[in-house]
Amino acid sequence: MKAAIFDPGKRSAAFHLRIEDVPRPQVAPGYALLRVLACGVCRTDLHIVEGDLPVLRQPLIPGHQIVGDVIVSVRPTHAESSLGVLRPRRRG
Ligand SMILES: [Zn+2]
Repeated sequence: MKAAIFDPGKRSAAFHLRIEDVPRPQVAPGYALLRVLACGVCRTDLHIVEGDLPVLRQPLIPGHQIVGDVIVSVRPTHAESSLGVLRPRRRG
C-alpha cells in the first residue's frame, strides 16, 4: 500500500513527505484496516513537522483524522470487547 512518510532528516519543509510502498499492516483483534479516502492535517502534525514535538516513531505516517472504508475488521477477544465497538460508516 502507499503511504506518505514523514522524514525529519530533510531540511526543507517542502521535502518532509515522500510517498512510498509500505507493508500492509496486520490487523489485531479489535482493530480494523481502512482504505483512506480523505485525511486531514491537524496542528499536531504541523508541530511535528516544525520540530516543536518529537517524532516518537519512525517511519512516521502522519494524519490521524481520516475518512475511510473498512477493508478488514477482526472481532475483539472477550477481554477487549469492553473497550468499544467500531461501527463502519454507511453509504447513502
Ligand atoms: Zn490531531
